[in-house]
Amino acid sequence: MSKAPEYRGRFAPSPTGPLHLGSLVAAVASYLDARHHGGRWLVRIEDLDPPREVAGASDGILESLRAHGLHWDEEVSYQSQRSDAYDAALAQLDRSGLLFDCVCTRATLGPGGSCGQRCHPEPGAAVARRIALTGDDHFIDLLPGEHAPEDLPDDVVLRRKDNLYAYALAVVVDDGLQGITHVIRGADLRGQTPLQISLHRCLGNPPPAFGHVPVLTNAEGQKLSKQTGAQALDNACAVDNLVRVLRMLGQTLPTVTDNAQALLEAATPLWDRRRIPQTLFDPVSS
Ligand SMILES: [Zn+2]
Repeated sequence: MSKAPEYRGRFAPSPTGPLHLGSLVAAVASYLDARHHGGRWLVRIEDLDPPREVAGASDGILESLRAHGLHWDEEVSYQSQRSDAYDAALAQLDRSGLLFDCVCTRATLGPGGSCGQRCHPEPGAAVARRIALTGDDHFIDLLPGEHAPEDLPDDVVLRRKDNLYAYALAVVVDDGLQGITHVIRGADLRGQTPLQISLHRCLGNPPPAFGHVPVLTNAEGQKLSKQTGAQALDNACAVDNLVRVLRMLGQTLPTVTDNAQALLEAATPLWDRRRIPQTLFDPVSS
């Protein structure tokens, strides 16, 4: 009987702004889940979309993680440096006959954003590369809660007309090459999961297990993000920030120290996925 692969988890922020409380929730959940299971924890910067990037945001995010005692294993990887891997994956999918060219625009697509191979690109036209998907990739979430089933889209863009790679392609290629076994992330990405599982299978990789943490919302019920006015984390208050996050995640609080790393070490054996509530509530900011 072959040995199960070791646990390898990851946190994969986009450098579109500083780390805020909502992203700290996802970072802490993935970190503690990995450490609790004796696993490794990697950090990947998802800098695929240069126009959306904010100068200095990557370094600021890494500095915040360090200040909060969230120390990663192995080198930080950057998606902007991995075009060769994404091209190789596209070529592999192409050889399998799964890709097709598409010239649809948002205006000509149906409500689901699916092309269905109905358009007919002229030779030499700038095309997006789409994948035709079939099947049914429902999954069991690692984290508790009542989850609506997520459906697999019929076809999705993997490389845009402007040659930018789609998030779904990059994330699946990186998770595969880095041997990620467990993805604990925000529930805002849950709708992507069947697609990602399907792409892993198309590329011949075993898909990781997925767990989705409820997203932290503001008083109006909007996801806490830069667009909804989330404040950058104050690294000088790292211990307080971590205590807030552990409380929101329903975890048993360890004896509080004034050292972020020691606090996380003490929280690791107490980590319990089953205690994560269905909605996250921050008593401090509400
Ligand atoms: Zn099309």
